[in-house]
Amino acid sequence: MTKAEIISVGTEMTSGQTLDTNSQWLSQRLAESGIPVGWHTTLADDLEDCVAAFRTASARAGLVLITGGLGPTLDDLTREALARLTGADLIFHQESFDFIRQLFERRQRTMPARNRVQALFPAGAEPLPNPRGTAPGIWMKIGNAVIAAMPGVPSEMVGMFNDQVLPRLQQLGLAGGVIVRRKINCFGAGESAVEEKLQDLTRRGHVPEVGITVHDAIISLRILARAPTREEAERQIWPVEQTIRERLGTLVYGVEEEELHDALLRLLAARKLTISTAESLTGGMVAQRICQVPGASAFFMGGVIAYDNRIKQELLDVPAEMLAQCGAVSSQVAEAMARGCRQRLKTDLAISTTGIAGPGGATPTKPVGLVFVGLAWNGGERSLQYNWLGTRQEIQSRTANMALNLARLHLEKTGAGAPA
Ligand code: AMP
Ligand code: MG
Repeated sequence: MTKAEIISVGTEMTSGQTLDTNSQWLSQRLAESGIPVGWHTTLADDLEDCVAAFRTASARAGLVLITGGLGPTLDDLTREALARLTGADLIFHQESFDFIRQLFERRQRTMPARNRVQALFPAGAEPLPNPRGTAPGIWMKIGNAVIAAMPGVPSEMVGMFNDQVLPRLQQLGLAGGVIVRRKINCFGAGESAVEEKLQDLTRRGHVPEVGITVHDAIISLRILARAPTREEAERQIWPVEQTIRERLGTLVYGVEEEELHDALLRLLAARKLTISTAESLTGGMVAQRICQVPGASAFFMGGVIAYDNRIKQELLDVPAEMLAQCGAVSSQVAEAMARGCRQRLKTDLAISTTGIAGPGGATPTKPVGLVFVGLAWNGGERSLQYNWLGTRQEIQSRTANMALNLARLHLEKTGAGAPA
């Protein structure tokens, strides 16, 4: 199978000033077209380096996509490097020149003489028109490799890839199949525990591919199917998704870019229930997560950031004796915070967080990362304890996920229409 190489040219990227987003975008498009990408190369605006990189790429890859270096200035060297590598002369292309000149005329500016170079192409190359800017692209072959050079400006590159490059790849039969992805998001178990349940699916060579990634204790299963058509790829994915859902049960909370707060709000809306938050450790993060969801105002009434014990007592009615006896970081206080919040803010549910975010504040019995989340509903309270490893920020955001998940699981269990 043809492998592609993507080359980004520009000192702004090698110097760290600009992030190379073109390679990311192009890789995603090629994957969708069933073309695997073997290499990403990023290089500075240097003629020798460009020639060498283009030589290497055209020898090892069947398709080379280049972005950047097609501008009119002296540091734009892509067209010259292509000509140098192939020994071709740079030939003037009248149509491209007329188009560039007309762009300037339309803006009532005179065309700088330098822009003439943008109408030069290595002999034998095909100009790729660029209605969005002054730099036409270049389509050519070097040895057995197909080369497409596109402008660096992301919007121009995207337009040229969609309008000019992809149709040519399809015509050549390079962009045949499709890749379809499905992402299933889980929370509430460790990566290895999840993997153990899915060993037969995640092994190398399984069709479709199933991979596992973790971020903030969210485990995502990524199913990737390659097939000649979208329908066939979806037919591969469907039974695997069902198997995953059966085996993981309520660990699965959503798909694609859905987050725990989206899942929670969806359930609150379905059950027509309200929620409030009582946060110590997370300092408002849980409330902020809930507020990200459009329409949250119908279900989220408000929250209390109860960082100091005095606030836990005065605003959430946590008893002073409880704080003295159990400590603020305890299951009792997590539940009392949720109970007090629910009563004071008059909501159907309330969730709470308390814990030791570190790096300081640990005691012999309460290490950094020890956290409790609480939930109160019309009928009781419960809490969960966990001991996270990680930075202060990681402990906070994972605990926010834990609190959101505690409420989500409660709503999943109580079922549609059932009283909370
Ligand atoms: P160029 O076509 O090399 O003149 O690039 C024009 C502008 O596009 C640069 O100044 C960058 O801001 C942007 N650019 C070039 N290459 C990339 C890339 N690979 N990813 C994101 N932006 C880019
Ligand atoms: Mg450049």
